Amino acid sequence: MRPSEGFGFGLACPSCGSGRLVRIGHVGRESFRVQRFQCKRCGKTFTELEGTPFKGVHDIKAFIAVAYLRLRAGLSDSGISKLLGIPYPTVKRLSRRAIKDREFMEKLLDSLLGE
Ligand SMILES: [Zn+2]
Repeated sequence: MRPSEGFGFGLACPSCGSGRLVRIGHVGRESFRVQRFQCKRCGKTFTELEGTPFKGVHDIKAFIAVAYLRLRAGLSDSGISKLLGIPYPTVKRLSRRAIKDREFMEKLLDSLLGE
């Protein structure tokens, strides 16, 4: 996964579909920086997480950990909650999201784990 490819969505404006985009910096913390774009046609701004299960997730590390433990290690939501020290409702929300977009998450885990 090269950074320019984002998370695999074809780089196009989610609003008008135009591919004419400008990079306008990053959002997020040092450990996980996310590229922001602006559409040259309609002016809408969005991040490379647009169209992925990560959109709107604040704790990306926790999301990846939950996805791994749920999809790969087969732990239950309550088990993950205890293991990570994350409140159960949060784990449940993240794990539902991971399952809903399972194919995407599996690909991402493969790419992170170098498989
Ligand atoms: Zn646009």
